Amino acid sequence: MILLGIVIISGPTLYFILRESPNNTENDDDNDFDTLAAIEQKIDELLASMTLEEKVEQLHGLGLGEWQMSFDTADNERLGIPGFRMNDGPHGVRSYDPYGPASSFPVGIAMTATWDMELLERLGTAMGEEFRGFGINQALGPCIDLQRDPRNGRSAESAGEDPYLAGWVGTALTRGIQSTGTIATVKHFAATNHQESRMSNNYIIDERSLMEMYGLPFRLAVQQGEAWSVMASYNYINGESSSTNQELLTDILRDKWGYNYYVTSDWWSIYHGAAASINAGVDVDMPGNIYGNNLENVIRSSNDVSVDTLDQAVRRVLRTKLVSGMFNRTKEDYDAYFSTIGSRSHNLIALEAAQKSIVLLKNEDEILPLDNNSINSIALIGPSADVAQLDGFGSSYVEAIYSFTPKEGIEYRFPDLTINYAKGCDINTDRVTGFEEAIEQANNSDIVIFVGGLDKSQEGEGYDGHGDRVSGSVALPGQQQNLINELAAVNPNVVVVLESGGICTVEESLDNIKGLLYAFYPGHEGGRAIADVLFGIINPSGKLPVTMPVSDSQLPEWSDFNFTGDVIDGFGYRRFDNLNMTPRYAFGYGLSYTTFEYGDIQVDSSIFDDSHQINVTVEVSNTGARAGDEIVQLYLIAENLSVDMPEKQLKGFQRVSLEAGQTKTITITLGADELSYWSLDYDSYFIEEGSYTVHVGGASNNLPLEATFLLEQSLLYNSANGTLSILLGNIT
Ligand code: BGC
Repeated sequence: MILLGIVIISGPTLYFILRESPNNTENDDDNDFDTLAAIEQKIDELLASMTLEEKVEQLHGLGLGEWQMSFDTADNERLGIPGFRMNDGPHGVRSYDPYGPASSFPVGIAMTATWDMELLERLGTAMGEEFRGFGINQALGPCIDLQRDPRNGRSAESAGEDPYLAGWVGTALTRGIQSTGTIATVKHFAATNHQESRMSNNYIIDERSLMEMYGLPFRLAVQQGEAWSVMASYNYINGESSSTNQELLTDILRDKWGYNYYVTSDWWSIYHGAAASINAGVDVDMPGNIYGNNLENVIRSSNDVSVDTLDQAVRRVLRTKLVSGMFNRTKEDYDAYFSTIGSRSHNLIALEAAQKSIVLLKNEDEILPLDNNSINSIALIGPSADVAQLDGFGSSYVEAIYSFTPKEGIEYRFPDLTINYAKGCDINTDRVTGFEEAIEQANNSDIVIFVGGLDKSQEGEGYDGHGDRVSGSVALPGQQQNLINELAAVNPNVVVVLESGGICTVEESLDNIKGLLYAFYPGHEGGRAIADVLFGIINPSGKLPVTMPVSDSQLPEWSDFNFTGDVIDGFGYRRFDNLNMTPRYAFGYGLSYTTFEYGDIQVDSSIFDDSHQINVTVEVSNTGARAGDEIVQLYLIAENLSVDMPEKQLKGFQRVSLEAGQTKTITITLGADELSYWSLDYDSYFIEEGSYTVHVGGASNNLPLEATFLLEQSLLYNSANGTLSILLGNIT
């Protein structure tokens, strides 16, 4: 619907509405509107018949003891309102009593390395089905935290360093999970970072960095993905805990972004009493001890929480329950999904995701792919060579129904190959007693494959004595690099495979190895996927979702909690650009066994015309001898605006499959989400007139194509309803 000619006087500024939201169905007579109206009517009816006690019961978990765990809220049998059955987590169903093992998909950072949103939607669907098969109606994921520093213990769960990519990952996973009726919970809103002291850390964040960096993944996931639940984070922002942060949970999430569903606390994150949190916008307390023990009393005995506030929270909970279809679901409806848990189709998705997530970083002398016909023996060495590393420590860990270690994966694919295995060293001890055997194996083999990295003893969530990276450094810990160097001294054909959540550097051994693959934690099919990439059954296509620095000195100061200005140059490629630093491997980087070339680039319009979109069309060719996937990346450069901008920002990407010799033309569209920044002057997203440049290519440091376009008209953008309006000038 296009509305023309309406002038709105709002505050001191005149707006002319240029485009009404295409989603604004208020006057449209369609089914959706009928359904939404019916839902609101049903909520009204329920609210009218609920007692105060019944209302409060909707808003908390059943863990009423101080540290008592609960993932459930109560059923209301009188009114037929089902309770939530929640469980972690972001890459599959956590094996928390009474739930058994499940598909353990690649972790969030690995999923992000695929840059494949179609795949992630299918993966989300598979996860949603498994939750449902266990009788769970709410998944505590996806986790779309930004990885500001790879030493953060929850790096495995994060969606990388770029907020735009993270927002699309959250959107795709949410769409998939919720297509099964399972509620997705995007977490942790906002700015989750260090695990040590995670319940008291206070980060100083400026408004633009909150809106454009830490908030963007959540905005995209709630607006595009329509996530039905958001989890508030443990940390404080600018002195306010997320669970008492009205600006975050109400002014931004609901008023500015139009979020209509419910907010849950993180577990035990209601630190300042029930009233402060429910008034700020936390609708449900989990595991429930604060609202459960106090909220009814607060309402009865004080004016601290109004009945309207209570009703509003209950309304959001009921809306989530009704929209997700929980009300009408029978036990049989859940049981019908039981057979999907660990099903063949889910295993194939896990395998595809692992294959697409592995990033090839170094391939000297084209050592990879290995040719199993000309290789008689491999030395398979390293602390993770015969372990399925599924995750760091914490609530996201999924016990797999089965798994392949890298060794098992290679044995499965090539049963006749001689594998000379030795563990060689631990992940992070000084022990060198295994070196001798490993070196002997390397000496007696054609090729050496070393598999190492981190594991759940080295990084994880901040409880039970676990947390941020144990070594405190981005470098691969313990004796791993020493062993790699000693192996290389006896056999020059060394390929290293690394698995971790937060990325590890290998500066002390990089020159001595010919091949380097980054596999993050690749899930229960990871071992087979690693074998497939090593031997060229699969052409690697993952791209780094984080920058690999040279050393700790290139990372932000670990102890600095001042995140002011992060949107410009705080971390990741923004920081490297600003400081003119060269990382070891840039954000978006990843090699293939084929080569790609970029041809023509066109921008379809030099102005922001009626379509309100800029279409950037590029030609990409596979110039090598085998089929492969390229991830085309578009970075936007806005140099002459009235505010500071990062040197460049990712604003579009597309995975494209190309046969050998094939050329494809692909289009990346830039709309208001891509072109706007958060304006402090207008308290709005703002598309500022001016000249823009796009750079397109296969990595943030390899962008051969360039084109410029002009935006002739500044526009205000209301992301909550898609409205664009022209600024006519100030009135006084
Ligand atoms: C974590 C959440 C998780 C919750 C329930 C918290 O400690 O931060 O991510 O969903 O526990 O296990």
